[in-house]
Amino acid sequence: MTTRSTELLRVAHARPGVTRAEAARLLGVGTGAATELVSRLAQQSLLAEAPAAPSGSRGRPTTVLVPHPAGPLVVAVAITHEAWRADVVELGGKALASTRGPHGGESWVAVTALVTAAVEQLRETYGDRLRAMGLSVPGTVSPDLRLDASGLDWHDIDLNSLWPPLSSTVVLVAGNDATLAAAAESTRGAATGAAVALHLRIEGGLGGAVVDQGRVLVGARGAGGEFGHMPFGDPAITCGCGASGCWGTAVDGTALARLLGQPEPPDPVSYARRIIAATTEPERTAVRTVAAALGRGMAGLVNALDADLVTLGGVGVDLLAAAGPEINAAYRAGLMSVRRTTPPPILPATLGDDGPIAGAGEEAWARLITQLP
Ligand SMILES: [Zn+2]
Repeated sequence: MTTRSTELLRVAHARPGVTRAEAARLLGVGTGAATELVSRLAQQSLLAEAPAAPSGSRGRPTTVLVPHPAGPLVVAVAITHEAWRADVVELGGKALASTRGPHGGESWVAVTALVTAAVEQLRETYGDRLRAMGLSVPGTVSPDLRLDASGLDWHDIDLNSLWPPLSSTVVLVAGNDATLAAAAESTRGAATGAAVALHLRIEGGLGGAVVDQGRVLVGARGAGGEFGHMPFGDPAITCGCGASGCWGTAVDGTALARLLGQPEPPDPVSYARRIIAATTEPERTAVRTVAAALGRGMAGLVNALDADLVTLGGVGVDLLAAAGPEINAAYRAGLMSVRRTTPPPILPATLGDDGPIAGAGEEAWARLITQLP
């Protein structure tokens, strides 16, 4: 496909509802060339046009670029510590279908069976239109798609094992959930347009990513962003990663359980949400302690990275709503005075729990567009 066709698909994907005239302007081509490009992509069943809503002004009616009704689709899959979900996503990022269920922290083999059955079901509806899979997982992913999720005791898992049911598919991409959520937050969420965005996500542990001018820093081996394993926590606590004093162990559900003298919860995310929502005093005290640990660490990262904003996802959204003052007080106290006059804002991730799956869909679409038709 010509570079301009690829660029036009990128514009249609990034700006759902863009008019043909606006797309031509963004590509720097004339209206005649744009019309020709659109009709070629329509012949290939990649793009379609629809009448634009009347603007009220006079002049020739324009059209908006929309996904082709028989066009390619991606399956975005998110596996979390407790559940799985699969969405079918069309050009422009809209989900056409969504299916989900719990997995209860089972073995990888059991989770694979659940996910592949769901994808098979989606294939019965959408057939060969499903051309790519984007996968979000709660661990680190190597360039050859091997997963290590210490929290779930899943080690050296070959993610290509999710591949066979999609034999007609050409693209499989996979990434860490927090990294994908950071990417999505910078593309379609609260960090859109930021120069340097820091995204932190609390689930079982804490992850995240730095997005520099729209580009996620993934590290040399794709395992960057493990902020939860910086030694901002209690050195007496050993983390599942093997290190001691990890920050993640001071801010997640296991931290709340420890503070409350309760055993480590098997469902740290649901557990954390229950405790954060509680109104009784021991729980409130534990939540305030965790909030302060979160704010203090964020200050350290902002001092180091000079981020212009911080977005919080996962349980971080709940924590910010329930203990925003405690997070902010610890954050401000830890900031260098030069940063304190206008502290980079701490914002809840607008994509919320959808961040990882949105990022997986975006990643799959980004790769698929380069390989169409
Ligand atoms: Zn650790």
